[in-house]
Amino acid sequence: MDIFETSLEMLRKYPLCDRCLGRQFAMLGYNLENFERGRSLKLVLTLQASALAQSRNEKGHDTLQVLAKNGFFLHANATIVQLGNHSPSQNDSEICYLCESSFKNLDKVVRNVLRNVSELEYATFLAGIILPIRVEEREDEFRAEFQVNYGESVKHEFGRSFGKRIAEKTGKAVEFMNPDIVILINPFEENVKIQVNPLFVLGRYKKLVRDMPQSIWFCSNCRGKGCDKCDFTGKLYSESVEELISKPFLEATKGEKTSFHASGREDIDVRMLGNGRPFVIEVTKPKKRFLDLAALERTINNCSKGKIEVMNLRNANRDDVRRLKKAESSRKEYRVTIKFKDDLKDTDLVLLEEALTNTLIKQRTPLRVLHRRADLTRERYIYEVKVKRCSSKKAEMDILCQGGLYIKELVTGDEGRTACNVSGLLGNEAKPIQLDVLRVIMNT
Ligand SMILES: [Zn+2]
Ligand SMILES: [Zn+2]
Repeated sequence: MDIFETSLEMLRKYPLCDRCLGRQFAMLGYNLENFERGRSLKLVLTLQASALAQSRNEKGHDTLQVLAKNGFFLHANATIVQLGNHSPSQNDSEICYLCESSFKNLDKVVRNVLRNVSELEYATFLAGIILPIRVEEREDEFRAEFQVNYGESVKHEFGRSFGKRIAEKTGKAVEFMNPDIVILINPFEENVKIQVNPLFVLGRYKKLVRDMPQSIWFCSNCRGKGCDKCDFTGKLYSESVEELISKPFLEATKGEKTSFHASGREDIDVRMLGNGRPFVIEVTKPKKRFLDLAALERTINNCSKGKIEVMNLRNANRDDVRRLKKAESSRKEYRVTIKFKDDLKDTDLVLLEEALTNTLIKQRTPLRVLHRRADLTRERYIYEVKVKRCSSKKAEMDILCQGGLYIKELVTGDEGRTACNVSGLLGNEAKPIQLDVLRVIMNT
């Protein structure tokens, strides 16, 4: 069967608008709209039928009736009237079998979309189409019945049509992979829902004080509800790196909430110095996303002066969060101040440097974190160790190592759970009294 015969078969059985007829041949011809395809098919069929009718072939009249009734084709109507011996059969409802004529609502729904997005800042969007099940099922059956091989789905055409119109009206770009917003449209019920995708900003932070956790530390007694143990704050520490960074972000974006992702974490009593630790802040449902990051950086640093500092803020995406988590085991540099029980000998410093540089450390989960971590043995590599004496019983040790090495236990030995260790190597009980992270080495 050629495409004219197929088209006529389809119309004979079902009322179809220009778009829905044309869509069954969407892969034929290039740079055409489906309504043009459908209209052209109906037009040629009208001309052919008109020729037959003029030579008094009843088939011609019959086809013209089909085109007028089920094709809603005015030219077929006019031809029948002009031929004079039949009156056209009317289809008053003119409801297309496949799209229920909801393509007529395009402009109305687009106006609805524009109202819904007017308060939002976004650069890119995606139009997502939600169809009633009956519509999808009907189309599947229709395509099977006529063995449609060149067609496009109604969902696809709606998506394309809405995408194009919304882009024209808003000046924003359609983006399939990482759109700022997804506009969910049910063209049949004229429903519009906006899904605002999260905003991600990447940066590095320094923690300049001790006794501050990286993230909110909820009171274990009340689990955040507030009790007299935590002074009804719900928290064990009044501030955290996360809170100090999140608050200005939430204010600037007018978002719903934030999540803080960092590449590893330092202990509460450990400072994070040097070039800082990479983090990503994720803002849920931001209303503003065109941020002046340099200004925001200044705001955060002014508000948290002496406590934390952020730098290198830049726009990011979900992939950056993944990269950040993967990089937790990247190289780190630490500085630990060690207090010894007995006096240090000159040879001790050399011994430590030689024994620990380029060494694989076997470390069982430290006793202090055993309550929340599985008890297993990890192997972490130390690339370089440098030791400097500060006083007769005090030294400063710089360690460049694989991420994940517990430094405090490297010093004490943790009752033999870390081997080798500073206490054991020197036979001199050693305690870490201050620890700083100097560098987190990661390409961000
Ligand atoms: Zn239709
Ligand atoms: Zn409490």
